[in-house]
Amino acid sequence: MFEKVTLIGIGLIGSSLAHVMKREELAKSVAISTRSEKTLKRAEELGLGDLYVLDTEEAVKDADLVIVCTPVGACEHIAKTIAPHLKTGAIITDVGSVKGSVVAQMQPHLPERVHLVPGHPIAGTEYSGPDAGFASLFENRWCILTPDQKTDEAATAKLKLFWQKCGSHVEIMDAHHHDLVLAITSHLPHLIAYNIVGTANELETDTRSEVIKFSASGFRDFTRIAASDPTMWRDVFIHNKEAVLEILGRFSEDLSSLQRAIRRGDGDHLFDLFSRTREIRRSIIEIGQDVDAPNFGRDEGEE
Ligand code: NAP
Repeated sequence: MFEKVTLIGIGLIGSSLAHVMKREELAKSVAISTRSEKTLKRAEELGLGDLYVLDTEEAVKDADLVIVCTPVGACEHIAKTIAPHLKTGAIITDVGSVKGSVVAQMQPHLPERVHLVPGHPIAGTEYSGPDAGFASLFENRWCILTPDQKTDEAATAKLKLFWQKCGSHVEIMDAHHHDLVLAITSHLPHLIAYNIVGTANELETDTRSEVIKFSASGFRDFTRIAASDPTMWRDVFIHNKEAVLEILGRFSEDLSSLQRAIRRGDGDHLFDLFSRTREIRRSIIEIGQDVDAPNFGRDEGEE
């Protein structure tokens, strides 16, 4: 599909892309650039690309597709750095979990002769770094692209085909809408997990209770999510502030109503909600976005 693809950042998502590009022969050559020498060396040992350089300007030279696979907060600096060195007609994309902020950080610095098509694969694990990637990560998962009205249609179509070849289903969405949808489906669940694990940790220290020992009773699933990369998630909350705060407000109201139901012994209220939520779980399994297994199919493949 492409003569040269450049991956900036080679952690879980970057290395998974490198694996699938190789398997599907999507690029004649793959250049890899990352922040640290250590990660770059590891990427080379794993044979993830064809060219390995710390210098991002050098890495993007002649690339037809540049994919930024770093935490969201690094996007502005990267856009500024690579802008003068981009090939005319190149497609620039990213994989960040927030889209409005990525556009705001990158678009002003990029020349008009290149096409910015932001993207977000809804696939991941709680592991990080170049060793964490695998070729099937994107299989049967959604990838959301958020071009705006001015974005070149051919560039969007080409990137859509690229993600389809990586195994994903592609949805085109407005960046603002993406951020609101992901605030409820991904960002809030992570915030709740970070919070509950933090609370449990304090409780264990304060009361010497056996939180970790009896973790299988529900807590364990939260600890998996709360093990996600701290830098990535710090950037998600800082850069999707408005949408997260809006969803958090609604969540807090609903939590208060649950609190009231428990205090008043309103079993009908609780039973009614828990029955509706059980249906939601069933419908997720029905559309093939999870499996009905005891471990919830969470060994891999879910953000
Ligand atoms: P990761 O495994 O932690 O890898 C991050 C990569 O970015 C590393 O190569 C790191 O370089 C580099 N990097 C970190 N900070 C940087 C900076 N300030 N400037 C330049 N490079 C920097 O991360 P990941 O899980 O692949 O996530 C990458 C992006 O994908 C994030 O924006 C995230 O929102 C998005 N995403 C993640 C998931 C998920 O489940 N993990 C799912 C979908 C989308 P060094 O190691 O050399 O320091």
